[in-house]
Amino acid sequence: MRIILFGPPGAGKGTHARILSEKWKIPHLAAGDLLRSHIREATDVGKRAKAILERGELVPDALINELMAEQLEKPAAKRGFILDGYPRTLGQAEALEEVLGRQKERLDSALYFKTSEEVVVERLSGRLVCPQCGANFHIRNIPPKKKGICDRCQGPLVERSDDRPQTVRHRLKVYEKETAPLLEFYRKRGLLREVPGDFDVSELQEELAKVLKGAASPQG
Ligand code: AMP
Repeated sequence: MRIILFGPPGAGKGTHARILSEKWKIPHLAAGDLLRSHIREATDVGKRAKAILERGELVPDALINELMAEQLEKPAAKRGFILDGYPRTLGQAEALEEVLGRQKERLDSALYFKTSEEVVVERLSGRLVCPQCGANFHIRNIPPKKKGICDRCQGPLVERSDDRPQTVRHRLKVYEKETAPLLEFYRKRGLLREVPGDFDVSELQEELAKVLKGAASPQG
């Protein structure tokens, strides 16, 4: 199964990608998580990306394309993958087609998490993340078992600096301008599947199971 998840920030891509990845035992490749790990480790890429992420802008296509191609070429991604937050521009979508073309593979589905602005703002304003393992929680909707502590790895939970209201507004504008055109790109290729991003986690998992039934089998 080779799928991409896209939609505005706060649509639930990361949460659902993690669940699907555990269910199907295929890697969850999250562009944002990868960039944040470079920033934590202060690599050259991290140094270039830090200020860009803090402003809520996109890093240059060439940089993220190279990082993601490296992930997609790893043996772990041979059986399939779930791409979360990549591609985010038409240039990235074309670069992804090239990588898959070289591997003689193709995408099974592009899942668009259609989400209302109201829900996005509500989710991002209470989001908590684990910098250690990347798990996501929410103060009200997905509270951790122990306050401020990650259920998965027991690390301390933090708020993301780019979840501040002003940066969120900017990220939404960037999404509309750069990422929304992917809808047409994948619709034309017959790969677009729209899912209701406003649903809560269990409702949307049920919906995803139905939508993905028609795509290749999890082992495919
Ligand atoms: P996310 O965790 O997916 O919300 O991404 C956090 C931030 O990482 C974004 O606001 C961008 O600054 C950067 N980023 C993530 N994915 C991409 C991408 N595909 N292209 C460019 N920048 C990205």
